[in-house]
Amino acid sequence: MKDGEKIPREDSLMLRSSSLLNETTGLWPDTTELWLEKHKNTQNTKTKRERSSEAAIVGAMLVSNERKMIHNTHPKEFKGGYEGLITNLMSELPDGLVSYNRPVQCVHWSNTKEEQNSVTVECEDGERIVADHVIVTVPLGYLKRHHSSLFQPPLPLHKLHSIQRLGFGTNNKIFVEFDAPWWDADCDVIQLVWEDEDALVDQVPDVQRSWTKKLFGFTVVQPTERYGHLVCGWIAGHESEHMETLSEQEVMHAVTQLIRRFTGNPSITPRRILRSQWFHDPWTNGSYSHLAMGCSEQDLKNMMEPLPLNESKARSLQVLFAGEATHLCYFSTVHGALLTGWREADRLISHYSSSNPSARPTSKL
Ligand SMILES: Cc1cc2nc3c(=O)[nH]c(=O)nc-3n(C[C@H](O)[C@H](O)[C@H](O)COP(=O)(O)OP(=O)(O)OC[C@H]3O[C@@H](n4cnc5c(N)ncnc54)[C@H](O)[C@@H]3O)c2cc1C
Repeated sequence: MKDGEKIPREDSLMLRSSSLLNETTGLWPDTTELWLEKHKNTQNTKTKRERSSEAAIVGAMLVSNERKMIHNTHPKEFKGGYEGLITNLMSELPDGLVSYNRPVQCVHWSNTKEEQNSVTVECEDGERIVADHVIVTVPLGYLKRHHSSLFQPPLPLHKLHSIQRLGFGTNNKIFVEFDAPWWDADCDVIQLVWEDEDALVDQVPDVQRSWTKKLFGFTVVQPTERYGHLVCGWIAGHESEHMETLSEQEVMHAVTQLIRRFTGNPSITPRRILRSQWFHDPWTNGSYSHLAMGCSEQDLKNMMEPLPLNESKARSLQVLFAGEATHLCYFSTVHGALLTGWREADRLISHYSSSNPSARPTSKL
């Protein structure tokens, strides 16, 4: 866009519709139709960028097919967005059951036929918790980096290969607060369009100077009565990881320059900013999973496969796996993570109710 030109606002349907959690259902609005609408005419003239988003489109199509399932099998509603979701889930648990700030160092399971095959969870503070079953929900990014120390014995090779093959990217938010709005009252999304956008590649050539080119826009955080004059910038990829290495002052300066350039108003000055740093967060090492080149559905199936494997003579279902990167179609989402937790709980319930009704858990779950 040229210096001083007005910010385009109408080319923002996809962003406006997909970026906010549905306040009523607590679920991400379905974006399938919007994705397909946006991409339906691009199949014969694919650019590098469009090809790289094919996996996302396939994911979106799967979501469309599965959409009824989530409503039919789990018709529960969570009012109040993410906060409501957590409050609701926690209200079903006995007080004091959840421990916080308790990193797990190693999950000791058994691949052999021993008298008693229980699992021991070794915490960083030295405590050892013995359990019949453990459901592991650490992020894929954490697994990629720590799988060798987190499991004893190590994970089977095919599971390990899937952990390596699946992608785990970085997406960050940069909240920017102002004393007064510089956008119109009815504006939901401000999308930044560069004149040379076609030339944008997976990584901008000069990341240090040009990382803000990957900041693809701002959502206006509403309602104003609650949040004040606040916008949320979105940035993904290597540029996002670079942004994390900068000081808050440097990020604020770069974002201020960007906004001034796009509005043509040199006096716009943010009051303060707050940004996430998911790539450098030691407990996530990124944001959420995606189907990288070379991945298949089998990788997601491998991710959710419990240990030990079926053919083993050891006691089954010692270690189960949940979390967004273990859902076949809702990977990368909160509802995907939620459904995988329910899936593994159902797996244990059916284990005790059908295959082995007399067996009961002997220790803490
Ligand atoms: C910027 C951004 C925007 C997003 N927007 C949306 C959206 O609009 N809609 C949507 O559906 N999804 C969105 N997501 C994705 C969503 O947040 C994730 O898919 C979801 O949180 C994954 O849940 P999870 O339980 O699998 O993993 P997490 O929420 O990452 O939970 C894993 C937990 O494991 C803990 N952990 C790690 N290692 C250890 C250890 N050794 N011991 C003990 N605990 C450990 C971590 O601290 C963490 O609390 C967004 C994500 C980001 C980053």
